[in-house]
Amino acid sequence: MQHCKIVVFETPEKSLELVETLIPELKEQEILVRNEYATLCRSDIYTYSGMRKEKNPTILGHEIIGRIVSFGNNARELDLRGNPIKIGDRITWAIFASNPASPLSKRGMPQKAADLFKYGHEQLTPDSSLHGGLSEYTLLRKNTPVIKVDEQIPLPVAAIINCAVATVAGAIRIAGELNEKNVLICGTGMLGIIACAMSNTKGAANVYAIDTNAERLEIAKEFGATDTCLIEPKQNDLQTLFTEKIGKQISIDVLIDLTGSPDSMENSIDVLGIGGTAVWIGATFPQRKVQIDAEKVVRKILTIKGLHNYNESDLQAAVTFIEENFSVFPFEKLIFDGFNLNTVNEAFKQAVEQNNFRVGIKTDVN
Ligand SMILES: [Zn+2]
Repeated sequence: MQHCKIVVFETPEKSLELVETLIPELKEQEILVRNEYATLCRSDIYTYSGMRKEKNPTILGHEIIGRIVSFGNNARELDLRGNPIKIGDRITWAIFASNPASPLSKRGMPQKAADLFKYGHEQLTPDSSLHGGLSEYTLLRKNTPVIKVDEQIPLPVAAIINCAVATVAGAIRIAGELNEKNVLICGTGMLGIIACAMSNTKGAANVYAIDTNAERLEIAKEFGATDTCLIEPKQNDLQTLFTEKIGKQISIDVLIDLTGSPDSMENSIDVLGIGGTAVWIGATFPQRKVQIDAEKVVRKILTIKGLHNYNESDLQAAVTFIEENFSVFPFEKLIFDGFNLNTVNEAFKQAVEQNNFRVGIKTDVN
């Protein structure tokens, strides 16, 4: 059996450790991938800094891109788009593997279905390893959706597909038709920036972006935001602020909240017009309950939807979006590059201290 290197996370108090492990024999339907690049998602940083509890020890990292090294018996021969896959192909894969026959999978929610396995979130045990991005290899379990990715896409940009871009693709899917609509993006971190770009490519009439960070709003303009508005952390009365700053009353058809902040979710609802839809995807951590004026929801015929992670169609939409737009929008500038598996502790330090959109790690030791 061949050896490889993995980065082990135990607790927030302990440094990440690069250790050697064995690559196991492939079981039925498994695929071995040589990782090429990983980016640190916000949830990795929360786990690293103790704001979020993960099973441990573990291998962090779930925004990953890699190449197929070998196939187990009866492994899939076609990707999600129906293209043949072979050794040497560059692929991305879903954050989850689950039972496709499960009722939730059949209802379009495989990320919550039976036998759920989540890359970058599993416990490291003698029988289960190579399930995170901060490693030389990933062992794809059976029922992992995979997609072959265009070789032209720069590695750091290809890496963000299977969490950030796919999650936004899910939000856009449940938001419904965006053509000629007024869209509001609340929060311009990595997902908000992608949401601006994706809404723009879907033909939105206007893409408004709000944030408490002026620098990020400047970047949002490069990614398709048509108007931006700097807000205070607990900003209420967004309509008055919009009128002052943008010079007009606005009626929003679709808003996407990436902040997860109860204040943001409460205040943004007020600018939805008749028949408007709020999509919440940022609230992935415990906090106070949101207060909403039910009469307004009824009289304005509003819809509120939530989404956690994404499904196969969203992953497919994410790959297509990046293939079509990697040279349209300056995605590469969102990733702070320059680390490898030997320097992951420095990479996390960079991410915590500088709050970059993403910090990228080449998944080798040279
Ligand atoms: Zn993530």
